[in-house]
Amino acid sequence: MPEQYKALQGFKDILPDEQPYWRLIEKTATEVASLYGFQRIETPILEDTTVFRRTSGEGTDVVEKEMYSFNDRADKEGRFQNISLRPEGTAGVVRAYLEHGMFKLPQPVKLYYMSLPMFRREKPQAGRYREHHQFGCEALGEGDPAIDAEIIGMLYQIYTRLGLSNIRVNLNSIGDSNCRPQYIELLKEYYRPLLDTCCDDCNVRYDKNPLRLLDCKNPQDQAKIANAPRITDNLCEACQEHFDTVQRFLRFYDVPFQIDKLIVRGLDYYTRTVFEFTSEIDNVALNGGGRYDGMAEIFGGSHTPGIGFGVGIERVINELKRQGIEPEPEPAPRAFVVYFVKEPAYKDAATEITAQLRKAGLKAASSYGDRSRKAQMKQANNSGADFAIIIGEDEMANGTVSVKHMKAGSTETESKQVEIKREVLLEYILNA
Ligand SMILES: [Zn+2]
Ligand SMILES: [Zn+2]
Repeated sequence: MPEQYKALQGFKDILPDEQPYWRLIEKTATEVASLYGFQRIETPILEDTTVFRRTSGEGTDVVEKEMYSFNDRADKEGRFQNISLRPEGTAGVVRAYLEHGMFKLPQPVKLYYMSLPMFRREKPQAGRYREHHQFGCEALGEGDPAIDAEIIGMLYQIYTRLGLSNIRVNLNSIGDSNCRPQYIELLKEYYRPLLDTCCDDCNVRYDKNPLRLLDCKNPQDQAKIANAPRITDNLCEACQEHFDTVQRFLRFYDVPFQIDKLIVRGLDYYTRTVFEFTSEIDNVALNGGGRYDGMAEIFGGSHTPGIGFGVGIERVINELKRQGIEPEPEPAPRAFVVYFVKEPAYKDAATEITAQLRKAGLKAASSYGDRSRKAQMKQANNSGADFAIIIGEDEMANGTVSVKHMKAGSTETESKQVEIKREVLLEYILNA
């Protein structure tokens, strides 16, 4: 096939056999989110690039290399906007919250989005796609630690209701604008004499984003990270109390969590609670989230506490498969209608009955293209239908149909076949 007729590199089709996983996740997440009082929102796939640039951090890889950004066509005055495909979900939701004055509603405003596509122009590699989909929740306008526990408890409930086991939560607090600046000074003091032996990336981080020093994966810097001062030992009183309360409340949600003092977020608007969900078996990271009390302000809004998470649906599907969890398959038809004579009257009767069943809300099928009697019965069998509804010569003459009970099981039901009047067919199937 010519290259232009293939999906773009890093993009993929989600075919019907994969859909039951999607429906399972969507149904489960929607139900649980509703239990916790979250309401659905959808934001546009394209936004002004500045929406993402401000929240993803100027100079970060996401903004500089990974966003799909382009200049829109110019208007009559020759002005144009630089717009981007959404790389993550939170920025658009916060933008919508401010734009629609949702801060005037009772707070917090609790929102979720479902299966929204996200785009990052990552290097093509196994398992990494440039388009992926996220389910996410954002609770805006309230700083109560009860919300932090609630949002983590909710996500834990979603994972467990999906049937996943060995899910753990790693939790940390990264302080706020009151205590973090002092901590960063402490961290820089600690690193200053070590910089000569640090990797190049860490030398850049030291100036640009010191918190990310703790994110370094380079072996040569691991001992330095292990001995570095911890933000959790340097929280102000209010942050410490918030952190303690989140942990106390998490126990009410039966969430198995551990403190991981190395979880950091490199952007200033993140505050206090940060968390990661992992699958314990091989420590696969499932998703992250955290509090971002400073984000609304960078959009010019007033101080608005917020907390949320985004879950990559493809990643959860991988974990479901890895743990051997299978979603319910598409249901088989209730009935498969077959006709034994290749004449228009028979085809008409089969079509009419199929339509009648479907209109009554029953899944029904029949074959196409005037196949032989044998081929049609084979199709009926393969479809997994509960009943074959047969229109043969006798049935046509008598105004009846024969209903064959197809479901495997006792030989008695296998062979069971009754001839009934056409007008009672629907009732028969509904009551069978
Ligand atoms: Zn390093
Ligand atoms: Zn603090």
